[in-house]
Amino acid sequence: MTKAKKNPLLEITLDERQNTFKETTITYDAETAVREAQRCYNCKNARCIGGCPVGVNIPGFISKIATRDFDSAALILKTFNGLPSICGRVCPQEQQCEKKCVKCTDKTEPVAIGRLERFVGDYALTHSSNNEYQPNNSCFKIAVIGSGPASLSCANDCAKAGLHVTVFEALHSLGGVLSYGIPEFRLPKNLVASEISALEKLGVVFKLNCLIGKTITFKNLYTEFDAVFIGTGAGLPRFIGIPGEELNGVYSANEYLTRVNLMKAYLKDAKTPIIRHNRVIVLGGGNVAFDSVRTALRLGSKPAILAYRRSLNELPARSEEIAHALTEGVQIETLRSPVGIISDDGINVSGVEFVKSELTGIDSNGQQNFRTIPNSNFVMSCDGVIVAIGTNPNPIIKDCFNDLRTDSRGYILVDADGKTNINNVFAGGDAVTGADTVISAMGAGKRAAHTIINTLKDTH
Ligand SMILES: Cc1cc2nc3c(=O)[nH]c(=O)nc-3n(C[C@H](O)[C@H](O)[C@H](O)COP(=O)(O)OP(=O)(O)OC[C@H]3O[C@@H](n4cnc5c(N)ncnc54)[C@H](O)[C@@H]3O)c2cc1C
Ligand code: SF4
Repeated sequence: MTKAKKNPLLEITLDERQNTFKETTITYDAETAVREAQRCYNCKNARCIGGCPVGVNIPGFISKIATRDFDSAALILKTFNGLPSICGRVCPQEQQCEKKCVKCTDKTEPVAIGRLERFVGDYALTHSSNNEYQPNNSCFKIAVIGSGPASLSCANDCAKAGLHVTVFEALHSLGGVLSYGIPEFRLPKNLVASEISALEKLGVVFKLNCLIGKTITFKNLYTEFDAVFIGTGAGLPRFIGIPGEELNGVYSANEYLTRVNLMKAYLKDAKTPIIRHNRVIVLGGGNVAFDSVRTALRLGSKPAILAYRRSLNELPARSEEIAHALTEGVQIETLRSPVGIISDDGINVSGVEFVKSELTGIDSNGQQNFRTIPNSNFVMSCDGVIVAIGTNPNPIIKDCFNDLRTDSRGYILVDADGKTNINNVFAGGDAVTGADTVISAMGAGKRAAHTIINTLKDTH
């Protein structure tokens, strides 16, 4: 028996996918969205809601789509999630709400909650007027450090409660990883800009090129504002620590993606172009590694290779992204661990030396272990290497916020409400949890906003 499937998302042509940065998939049209929404049972005890880190009323907004009332669907969705167009595209729904959907069985695929969220989010950007400017009717001033999803979500909820919010961003562009990390072909930057401009309409003020700790000291910020939210992410790249990582042509994924996404190095007339390598090897297996290898492919790397220590089954990236990469022609090499980066001339990279690895079984944490096979060394040639094995928090915040408590790796310690050990200083997102997801960061920003609003109300 064939499985009853979700309505598919259409895709642009393979040629466009391999050679341009256009968005890979196309948002449902209204007819498809209504058809998909009608697959939902509108359950009384909707299990899908429990799978959503911000508790979106999923049957509520889907039932409005089913009756073609898209404005009401947008209104419901926006009550819970300030960035639905973005979350509809990048949230790992298959691990969250859709995994909990009662339709997620051997016989049927779950309701395509993410695709419906994307449809409504895109609709709201062009149709709804529910984010009109609201007067800031409170005397309280909130400083938000960073403009990634944690900060945007905190700013959104504080502004909706009538607080005066100023967001300070170190870079010249807003959005955090949404702008400099996730590539255009997965998340168009005009969408990020539109979602942010909806916040401006709520009265949020954005200050760019402002590195808190350098441009403005924490002390000044703390004196001027009634509460501070730290959403500075975890953008400090990690390297493997193998010989050759200093060679020309070796990048951290963070640098590579920032140059391509934020500095638009993929455009022919880009002011800060990037070398278009002929044969790139990406080291890693998460979303960041897949974004890097798909970017390298589009910049002309043929082949674009992703090398991972474990097997295909353990790849931590979203299954959708792995499938897209394979269709586009990315070469995935598994069970190999890098031990050195090689150069023929002592300056430029010419290959990666690996040892083969093999799986050794699941450990007590449920993780598949592996071991390297002695004397199995071999070299794969390349002229570009991208290291995508994770990140750390940037130490600047810890260095500048005297007495802010962090763990041994530098992640900020907070309680369940997002409070740090410093009075009226709150934190959330990757700066607290380490690399996580957009929606988890948004959930943390929302929780902190709630605490800020209640704390300040009590001091009035
Ligand atoms: C390439 C890539 C792909 C990803 N893909 C996905 C995906 O598909 N789905 C998903 O759910 N998650 C994905 N993630 C993870 C997700 O993007 C992050 O978990 C999320 O962005 C964290 O949000 P944040 O607000 O905590 O921090 P960030 O998004 O990192 O934003 C932090 C911001 O703070 C600014 N900042 C730092 N220090 C200062 C300072 N001192 N002063 C002022 N500003 C400062 C930074 O410039 C940055 O703009 C991906 C991450 C990467 C890197
Ligand atoms: S669990 Fe699935 S079918 Fe039930 S309300 Fe949620 S999305 Fe609809």
